[in-house]
Amino acid sequence: MNIAQLLLRTATVYPDRPAILHGERVLCDYRTFARRASSIAAGLRAKGYAPGDRAAVFMGNCPEYLEVLYGIWWAGLVAVPVNAKLHPRELAYVLENAEACCLFVSADLAPATLPVVATTPTVNQVFMPGAGEYEQLLESAPMPPEHRAADDLAWLFYTSGTTGHPKGVMETHRNLLGMTSCYFSDVDPVDPDDAIVYAAPMSHGAGLYNFPHVLKAARHVVPASGGFDPAELCGLAERLGRLSLFAAPTMVKRLVEHIAASGADPRGFKTIVYGGGPMYVEDIRKGLDLMGKRFVQIYGQGECPMTITALSREQLGDRDHPRWAERIASVGVAQTLVEVKVAAEDGKALPAGATGEILVRGDVVMAGYWRNPEATAKTLRDGWLWTGDMGSLDADGFLTLKDRSKDVIISGGSNIYPREVEEVLLKHPAVREASVVGRADPEWGEIVVAFVVADDLTSAELDALCLDHIARFKRPKEYHFVDSLPKNNYGKVLKTELRQRLN
Ligand code: AMP
Repeated sequence: MNIAQLLLRTATVYPDRPAILHGERVLCDYRTFARRASSIAAGLRAKGYAPGDRAAVFMGNCPEYLEVLYGIWWAGLVAVPVNAKLHPRELAYVLENAEACCLFVSADLAPATLPVVATTPTVNQVFMPGAGEYEQLLESAPMPPEHRAADDLAWLFYTSGTTGHPKGVMETHRNLLGMTSCYFSDVDPVDPDDAIVYAAPMSHGAGLYNFPHVLKAARHVVPASGGFDPAELCGLAERLGRLSLFAAPTMVKRLVEHIAASGADPRGFKTIVYGGGPMYVEDIRKGLDLMGKRFVQIYGQGECPMTITALSREQLGDRDHPRWAERIASVGVAQTLVEVKVAAEDGKALPAGATGEILVRGDVVMAGYWRNPEATAKTLRDGWLWTGDMGSLDADGFLTLKDRSKDVIISGGSNIYPREVEEVLLKHPAVREASVVGRADPEWGEIVVAFVVADDLTSAELDALCLDHIARFKRPKEYHFVDSLPKNNYGKVLKTELRQRLN
């Protein structure tokens, strides 16, 4: 089934419900949203683009984002949403690799993008919301959604590619429908009065959460700023009510700090789903203290979008549970459409408590990497997705993530998980952020180095704190006090960049 059917269904049953908002302003209802998507589809088909062709989207968060995505799917094409912060050269790589036939670009990004497109032979046409060609698409007579098989490709998602070129993760209609169903069973039920705000990039996880909200005829809010601004979000929550969002842990931390400092009322927030990177225990404790049971954690990756495990609102809020402290440090339990195991290098399941690589199997696991059989064969083995993340399962099925296998530090033959050291450093009230990496060392193989954002602190104080909490060999040998940590567009700390600074 074509994922665009979700929009058609909602527009048929609830045509008058508000669909797209820019800030607090309602721009269109579901009838208009579906009509515009359908016309975009018909326009694309009239221009000769065929089902299966790839249409790239290079736009920051904007009110047209969803109609463009649905227009592409409605026509049976494959959407290739590209991170709007990429350099034009990186965009060129994605366009060529995907063999994109056309590109949707926002006006602000067009000047830097058009010269790239001119040298990318596969791209026949550029559509810019608000400009001639795009507006012409919207004049096309609507068409019914093209039939798609469940295993046809819907979303080609390019990984962030911190090492080497990004790879195109093939997400099918089945994957996206499975992810939508897991949202309802494992993350949060959705009500038509709900609103989802896109504070993180729509080209990534935040955009994926449109599906459960389209299916339930909820409101889609694109902030006027186009991104993450804690004061703006609090204003939207207060005035629109029942506001949910997906946020990286660094965004949650800033939102909580803002609410603590400003005294803003958190009751307009319904659910804050966080994931995509480690949430430190100190930070989620503060969030729960201040905002109550409003949080859900998910763990996923492009290769299994948003759907490996979830830690529910109830589990996060169940302070009386004897293992609550361990549970809030975990990423929760397997979502309903996947099996999760922690395995040794030979793929055999390890017993509870043992650390190994996290493997996932199920209907939401990607079909493979686009035109990259070697990478696919390395990652999908014996029917399992090898995530590259290390972790352990407890006897109750809760998964605790350690680190990505490439981030593990091996010092004097012992494995050190940076996350464990970071959790300790963050216990110090003056530490705002911390990231721990390994540096090559002739004697130890690697040594532990900490980058710390803090007010007025010495290495000796942090060393004493570590001695109080973790084994001596895990203590950082060096501290670098910095003003901020390098992060990508999704708020993830760029450990590769930190390691490069040490060379
Ligand atoms: P991406 O494919 O860019 O979404 O990155 C996925 C990676 O982010 C995963 O493989 C994990 O290493 C990390 N990640 C995702 N969710 C979490 C989480 N809840 N806690 C810690 N790390 C996470």
